[in-house]
Amino acid sequence: MARILDNLDVLQKLLKRQPFGLITDMDGTLSEIPHNFLEITPPPPTLPQLAKLVKRFEVLAIISGRKTEALKDIVNIDGVQYIGHYGMEWWKNNQAVLHPEVAASVTAMRELAAELETLRAVDGMIIQDKWATISVHYHMTRQPETAKQQIMDLVQKSPHGKNMRLIEEKNNISIIPRVEINKGTAVSSLIKEHNLQGAIFLGDDVGDVPGFRAIRVAREVQEFMGLAILVTGSETSQATLKEADFTLNGVGETVMLLDWLVDNTVERTHTRP
Ligand SMILES: [Mg+2]
Repeated sequence: MARILDNLDVLQKLLKRQPFGLITDMDGTLSEIPHNFLEITPPPPTLPQLAKLVKRFEVLAIISGRKTEALKDIVNIDGVQYIGHYGMEWWKNNQAVLHPEVAASVTAMRELAAELETLRAVDGMIIQDKWATISVHYHMTRQPETAKQQIMDLVQKSPHGKNMRLIEEKNNISIIPRVEINKGTAVSSLIKEHNLQGAIFLGDDVGDVPGFRAIRVAREVQEFMGLAILVTGSETSQATLKEADFTLNGVGETVMLLDWLVDNTVERTHTRP
């Protein structure tokens, strides 16, 4: 697949479209995936560029599987739109607001979290309990494939299993409520709310695929141009590769892309009456 850094003319053309949005995932895209999600996450290497770009674009949004508040604490740049839990929770008026459909399943998620406690007996298993969703990281266990199966069996056997959906990402499984809300619906909402005429969406994993698709759908059905860009690495799956328009090779190239955007855009001037 073509590298976006070899096709900057495409991007140059896209940037002419206003209002423009930069919409991106965080872990594995703006920063390396932390080895241990229980430790404090270091600031992403892309923060200086994001702090500049937020003044250049109509929308700069970060959509992550993390809790919105955690996302905001890590990035902490005024004007960035924070969206957590794979599109299900938005930071609005100084607080995290869960989508009502997701809020309705928090009780079930809490009961499931209690059932998942037995997994802590497995050496190396990390349960990242985010209240409304849960991610279980199994890459540090002695037998990751067995550990992964154990997580899936436990969810399946739970009375709440049928109301949950699993997202199998790099080395972790995220358990989310079975609702039709995802990174794709978040991307579509941002395009619509801000009447975006151009956007890029950056992501690196399975949970980002709905975002890639939303970009594609928007450019097919309306006056909109957008690009889906996949940050690749050794664990990139073929399935995600075929959903994107262009690639970046690792977070290092995300930094290069953002540097290029800083060099090729200017601060927005508000022309609204
Ligand atoms: Mg990611």
